[in-house]
Amino acid sequence: MEGEDGYDIIWKVVLIGDSGVGKSNLLSRYTRNEFRLESKPTIGIEFATRTVELEGKSIKVQIWDTAGQERYRAITSAYYRKAVGALLVYDIAKFSTFENLEKWISEVKTHGESDIVIMLVGNKSDLRHLRTVMFDDAKNFSDQNGFASIETSALEDTNVEQAFKNHLNDIFTVQS
Ligand code: GDP
Ligand code: MG
Repeated sequence: MEGEDGYDIIWKVVLIGDSGVGKSNLLSRYTRNEFRLESKPTIGIEFATRTVELEGKSIKVQIWDTAGQERYRAITSAYYRKAVGALLVYDIAKFSTFENLEKWISEVKTHGESDIVIMLVGNKSDLRHLRTVMFDDAKNFSDQNGFASIETSALEDTNVEQAFKNHLNDIFTVQS
């Protein structure tokens, strides 16, 4: 059944990962094709949406962003509630954001739905000269955990579309 404003399904996807890795910019790039150089915590906005077509179905994707509360690890379970997907973001130029993935994974496992689909996103791939997280190490880590992974640049608009596309396809497989 098609919904009132023309979609068949609604999905919630959450963005998680350390402060400063580029979550808000991945969201603005994907939903509005916008990028901001200055870091500004999202205030008041809980999520942005984009409607995609998948296998003949119109899916309204609600992508939730934190409002900077990840700085204090104060993301509540309400944030994860009913999410079908989680994009776990780290910064390829900041090793600690990769090391902290374990903590984020256990948060998702604690608060998220049991069948939530997780994807690893190594953002800021444009910072090649500052890279501290090797692609192969991230790939091994995601393989071990059974997650898909991709590197993106919200700044250069590299792989952002692809990351969401792959993630939504994986969710589709689990949900149908
Ligand atoms: P958040 O705290 O995870 O939401 O991160 P933000 O989206 O606020 O980004 C933090 C900082 O990193 C800002 O200064 C952004 O301009 C910058 N940033 C975000 N994405 C990229 C990227 O792909 N490449 C580079 N070089 N900087 C980025
Ligand atoms: Mg943010």
